[in-house]
Amino acid sequence: EAGSMAGEAQADCLFCKIVAGEVPATVVRESETTVAFRDINPQAPTHVLVIPRVHYPDAGSLAAAEPGIAADVLREAAAVANQEKADGTGYRIVFNTGAGAGQTVFHAHAHVLGGRGFNWPPG
Ligand code: 5GP
Ligand code: ZN
Repeated sequence: EAGSMAGEAQADCLFCKIVAGEVPATVVRESETTVAFRDINPQAPTHVLVIPRVHYPDAGSLAAAEPGIAADVLREAAAVANQEKADGTGYRIVFNTGAGAGQTVFHAHAHVLGGRGFNWPPG
């Protein structure tokens, strides 16, 4: 059952394959617990995904099981924004959760978007 595998690499998960180096990605930062790489279909001049090395299906379940790693994801997201010089004008950290909210990859990830203006509400 899927729940028993929480935290372990999933054979059918694209982002687990990126963590393992089995699928190439343009990595911009790495930490002991996270990998940050450019989104293949960028929606802003800066569009980087920050993922935990461990597999959880979404950010909330990561935070419930591994709060320290969830904090690492947030810290790394801010570090990416700083590294990309996107923090001066403001940036957005997004966790799409569930298909209805646009989640398509079910391995927790933060979108870091910057380098342009953003509207609120996001739509
Ligand atoms: P979601 O829609 O689940 O919040 O975000 C998934 C993101 O992963 C999308 O923005 C999509 O463009 C990105 N993505 C999907 N496949 C790949 C891939 O193979 N490589 C990279 N770098 N990004 C991907
Ligand atoms: Zn995964």
